[in-house]
Amino acid sequence: MKRIVAAVLALFAAPAMRAQQPDIDRWWAHIVYLADDRMQGRQTGSKEHREAANYIADQFKKIGLKPGAGGGYLQPVKFVTRTLDESKSSLTIVRDSGEEPVKLGDEAMLNIRVKHAPRLETSMVFVGYGLTVPEMKYDDLAGQDVKGKVVVLLTGIPPGIPAPLYAHYATNRWHALQAAGAVGGVAIQNPKGQDVPWERQMQNRLIPQMVLEDPALDDNAGQQLAATVNPAHAEKWFTGSGHTFQEIMELANAGKPLPKFPLRGKVRSLISMGGEPITSENVVGILPGTDPKLKNEYVVVTAHFDHLGVGNPVNGDAIFNGAMDNASGAATLIETAAFAAAKKGFKRSVAFVAVTAEEKGLLGSKYFATKPTVPARSIVANLNTDMFLPLFPLKSLVAQGLEESDLAGDLRAAAEPAGLEVLTDPEPERNAFTRSDQYSFIRRGIPALSLKVGFTKDSPEHEMVKKWRTERYHAVTDDLSQPVDKQAAVEFNKIYAKVVESVANRSTRPAWNSDSFFKRFAPQTH
Ligand SMILES: [Zn+2]
Repeated sequence: MKRIVAAVLALFAAPAMRAQQPDIDRWWAHIVYLADDRMQGRQTGSKEHREAANYIADQFKKIGLKPGAGGGYLQPVKFVTRTLDESKSSLTIVRDSGEEPVKLGDEAMLNIRVKHAPRLETSMVFVGYGLTVPEMKYDDLAGQDVKGKVVVLLTGIPPGIPAPLYAHYATNRWHALQAAGAVGGVAIQNPKGQDVPWERQMQNRLIPQMVLEDPALDDNAGQQLAATVNPAHAEKWFTGSGHTFQEIMELANAGKPLPKFPLRGKVRSLISMGGEPITSENVVGILPGTDPKLKNEYVVVTAHFDHLGVGNPVNGDAIFNGAMDNASGAATLIETAAFAAAKKGFKRSVAFVAVTAEEKGLLGSKYFATKPTVPARSIVANLNTDMFLPLFPLKSLVAQGLEESDLAGDLRAAAEPAGLEVLTDPEPERNAFTRSDQYSFIRRGIPALSLKVGFTKDSPEHEMVKKWRTERYHAVTDDLSQPVDKQAAVEFNKIYAKVVESVANRSTRPAWNSDSFFKRFAPQTH
């Protein structure tokens, strides 16, 4: 009997889920506006990015959201740009036997987010993964003398370290290295974690970067050298050390611990950087809550709308349109706001925030989460979408952070009646939970979820996602001409809006699960 009821309900549920053409057209029109060539890839700080910000602000206004940043919708964020003059920069391994140049571009890239020292020449130590994870009593730096030296490390997860712990300590790695006395870091890219082929990364390497003007918000402050090494050219760093890169990779691939040892010779860097102050905006619209008490709490819904700007031409195209990354998420944010406003609001207030500078290291969201335009303590949850990839029909949702907080209940309540399965992240090794804007809120103790169109590991859909990443992720081909399953996107939007509704209407304040790693960041409230 129960089964029949479920089947009948499913029959009614299905057509309601079907996206209507006007919904599809509206969602896609936002993307067409934001990802058009005219928008020049929405580089943070550009006039086109500001135009995109004004477009989103206009949409928020039309929908009926209240201005969420003082008297207007725009929250200015101050940055300093960083540029690299590669022609005046060099990286060299200096040994008694002679000097070995490291070719910038082919063999290594300098991290432009870091304020490099103009000149550095110092010893090097190989420190395995270069990680310190106190919870697991894991310390690559134990017994190593790194004072005044550059550490050389392999990127990737050490065996036995849970993904969230890894993600946290990898993000904050420089703090531990600096505390141990290191002055710089050279990271050899683990071929296993290479989402984007080196050749494509190389093409993007000189795109200007930026940091928040406030030095207290710079996670890399004090780092004098930060380079990433192409694993295909890593061997030369190990010459004369008694070890080879091949040996290191064999151990890594076998899940065995990596040795730590001093490298022969010194690394010398001569680095010429430029930069200037710029301002770029977050866009904040508020839908006030309806409950006399709960309206003082805010659910913050985010999507970044910046992208990579313009790069070197590839087949005559130089514009990083960022249609899926993340005009799609910004469009979903606008549509979610429209849905919520049409319902005349929920018990809690909802702040819809389109953030800038995600591509620069989650900076717009970091700024908002640190200096919110609503009282910091009043933010109870963050929901985020970044590149949710509607490439195939919507049958399930992948939720990053599903295991971490009771927001999972809100998600299930929204998705399951529509016949959608809720799946855990099928690629935990990619640390997606800490790689987009939700992490800025997580670090402030706020429970968060990030949602994508679902797929299971090694399914044909997973192959489509992987293919998309290889061919289009951070490439000029993430543009308006790519195939998109708009039906899936708009069905996704409906469910996403229901999740927002559920979180905004629930009676209890969202909470981290008692065993969640991220609980440690939670502010001590009542
Ligand atoms: Zn991106």
